[in-house]
Amino acid sequence: MPDPKPNHPITCALHEQIDNAETRPVVTPLYQNSAFTADSPYFYTRKNNPNCEELERVVARVEEAPHAITVTTGMAAVSLVSRLLSPGDHLVVNSLVYGCSYKYFQRLRRSLDLKLTLLDLSRPSELEKIPADVNMVFFETPTNPFLHSVSIRGVVERTRAMNPSALVVVDNTWATPLFQKPLAHGADVSLYSATKYFSGHSDVMGGLLVLRCADLAERLREERFYSGAILDPHSAWLLRRSMQTFALRMKEHQRTTGIMAEFLEDLPQITRVYRPDVDGQQLVGYGGILFCDLREDLVSRYQEFASQLRLFGTGTAMACVTSMVAQPYSGSHASMTPAEKFEMGLDEGLVRLCFGMEEVDDLKRDLRQALEAIDIQDRCGERYSRQTTGIGI
Ligand code: PLP
Repeated sequence: MPDPKPNHPITCALHEQIDNAETRPVVTPLYQNSAFTADSPYFYTRKNNPNCEELERVVARVEEAPHAITVTTGMAAVSLVSRLLSPGDHLVVNSLVYGCSYKYFQRLRRSLDLKLTLLDLSRPSELEKIPADVNMVFFETPTNPFLHSVSIRGVVERTRAMNPSALVVVDNTWATPLFQKPLAHGADVSLYSATKYFSGHSDVMGGLLVLRCADLAERLREERFYSGAILDPHSAWLLRRSMQTFALRMKEHQRTTGIMAEFLEDLPQITRVYRPDVDGQQLVGYGGILFCDLREDLVSRYQEFASQLRLFGTGTAMACVTSMVAQPYSGSHASMTPAEKFEMGLDEGLVRLCFGMEEVDDLKRDLRQALEAIDIQDRCGERYSRQTTGIGI
């Protein structure tokens, strides 16, 4: 009878494994494995993974919703939810959305032969234009750019009246589930770029869809499985770790942004500060992103202004622990044509500021010196009118 035990050291080394059932980690470890044993409920990491599931549970808790689905990026979340559309369907998109979402829907219109209608959903009168054959409405609130509010309940009511089975999808990345819960106002899907506030450190990408309806969640999980869009375990692990400080970071962003908005309103180089409408009903707080208009004579000097700043990084990152400055015209909305940008009221004078965790006095000093450095008109003693919009943060 041959000995069934392997005795070659290489074979033994290949099969060596600690007893995982006996480990007692204080936090969930990284499950980097792609495969699980045949009796595991996880099957295969493209279908599900403990790190992804834990992140989903955490985000679902914050949103007080039953289902969450994690994917590789925010755009993967946009792409996954769009798989609920069929050829010839009618998609309504708010005219102010993240540039890549806007471009993606235009591409989808061609490939799926969709009807695509752009509306300014922040205007109650435009809600009436949501068509009778609508299948999905997609929007962000507060909007990117300009931070206009869209009434989630208003959109839901009109959409349901037109077509009870149409879906309302809210990209809630900027408001976050701490400050706005779209599902509680009747939306079907809350969508997130986890790359932003959930990560908070500009070092990991991810996306999430949060849902009320079990059938819809199951359908999207299947779409994720076959499209291979699930988040990788390491990113899920990092995001779960970041979520431990999510509420703390958001509260600090909110405090800083409130102070900085008032500071900006008093600067002679800024003609307008865009703030969100924190109404206490739909939006109960706000994070770290503001927009402002540079005074007309300073618009051409944006690059110089950005390079004068010491504490604000440039580039596409945002919603992290360090402050960032960006020009939406050449950044987040660069993929749109000049005509499309003109149509949405976006020009080169609009500046996006994302406030991090730095002390506010340092941020104030930095902004003041950079604006004064480019302000040639100030030395001539010219005066400009200032305007402020929105309700306090
Ligand atoms: N939605 C919003 C509001 C965004 O700002 C972004 C990215 O900036 C996205 C979606 C896309 O997210 P990601 O870059 O993670 O794909």
